[in-house]
Amino acid sequence: MELYELTIHEASILLRKREISSLELTRALLDRIAAIDDQVKAYITVTPDTAMAQAREADDRRSAGEENPLLGIPLAIKDIICTKGITTTCGSKMLHNFVPPYDATVMRHLYEAGMVLLGKTNLDEFAMGSSTENSAFFPTHNPWDLTRVPGGSSGGSAAAVAAQEAPGALGTDTGGSVRQPAALCGMVGLKPTYGRVSRYGLVAFASSLDQVGTLTKDALDAALLLNVIARHDPLDSTSVEVPTPDYTASLNQGVQGLRIGIPREYFSAGIQPEVEVAVREAIRTLESLGAVTQEVSLPHTEYALPTYYLIAPAEASSNLARYDGVKYGYAYPDAADIWDLYRKTRQHGFGSEVKRRIMLGTYALSAGYYDAYYLKAQKVRTLIKKDFDAAFESCDVLIAPTSPSVAFRIGEKVADPLQMYLSDIFTLSLNLAGLCGVSIPCGFEQGLPVGLQIIGKPFDEAGILRVAHTYQQATDWHKRHPTFPEQ
Ligand code: GLN
Repeated sequence: MELYELTIHEASILLRKREISSLELTRALLDRIAAIDDQVKAYITVTPDTAMAQAREADDRRSAGEENPLLGIPLAIKDIICTKGITTTCGSKMLHNFVPPYDATVMRHLYEAGMVLLGKTNLDEFAMGSSTENSAFFPTHNPWDLTRVPGGSSGGSAAAVAAQEAPGALGTDTGGSVRQPAALCGMVGLKPTYGRVSRYGLVAFASSLDQVGTLTKDALDAALLLNVIARHDPLDSTSVEVPTPDYTASLNQGVQGLRIGIPREYFSAGIQPEVEVAVREAIRTLESLGAVTQEVSLPHTEYALPTYYLIAPAEASSNLARYDGVKYGYAYPDAADIWDLYRKTRQHGFGSEVKRRIMLGTYALSAGYYDAYYLKAQKVRTLIKKDFDAAFESCDVLIAPTSPSVAFRIGEKVADPLQMYLSDIFTLSLNLAGLCGVSIPCGFEQGLPVGLQIIGKPFDEAGILRVAHTYQQATDWHKRHPTFPEQ
């Protein structure tokens, strides 16, 4: 077995036993990146010097007697999370040269735990998209089939873990951006509950929906990462002061008697038949492990997409107003005056999807339309949340597909925004309702992974990870990796 093939928990044991050093592990991953990332294009920035220095430091900390599961573990970070001294581009020309003067809170926690930074991963510009094709730099390729997308917007993070260019990664999820790429790349993607993980230092897209999440090879690794990043943060006023359990502690408790709800509306027209077959088979597996299932209804599901595409662009239009060519990043060089600078900087600095969102959002928030669009969407958001509240009265978790289809071809949906938006039809509602969710692989269709989504009550990450882990003890979909490079 190659060192780059290890999961976080496997590497952690070998490091603790001194069978490997962090320097060796980090070197193996950097070599892997150098060997194959030309084809996958998961990384925008690789940080070999930082990584080797941090690996050496982690080995020293261990020699000095320190122990913890992430000490010396190399990880990849989505390039929308601020890293002090290392460019954070958000996949945008606008921030192509932006070097944050501080670390995001999640980075501080990870560094304290001893992580090693391998690099910053590709994404759709400002996390707007579902295929990573909206990156201003280059598209990322799905390691299972290089002609296909890895999903998005955290496509670089998902592809890096799938291609074994990192044992784990952070992504962000505003409407599905951790779970959908996890599904399309056959990895585990956890979106914690809004408020569970600090957003301080995460470049804002839609502030009432954004949440940092994890991409890993299995549920145990997701629990290990969440243990480090889930903490109340006084620097983020929306971070919630609730106790954070040890997420590994309850993983082995099984699903005997667990009440699983199957939302009828998530198995509707538009879902690829093979995806439904794989998800229903996984539900049967969970039943055979002792879970009890029942059908439930989430009647406002059909309004989730329009609701999200009013609220998210409205918040984005406000958040992105700060990119004016004065304070950060790109500035149009030959502006005639300040107004010309604003206009031309934004015209040339943003890509077309970002501009589309800014226009949609500005329209929805403008006087005379605010009540009809934005306010109405907020009311529908409450109805969507109430649907989940009702379902959770009789269920512990809900199970649904993560994405209606397996990975689509690069170029297939870029020209049709609505088709692209539909790719998140099963993930958006969780962000609107403030729930947690995890996508795990549950099968393959013609060599491409299918994702199963486990949806949990607010702050019940331990519950959904337990279901995921139990399923992974009985199956081995999560152990598969693409043979890469093609041999
Ligand atoms: N694909 C959705 C969008 O484009 C979700 C993105 C995300 O979660 N960041 O807005």
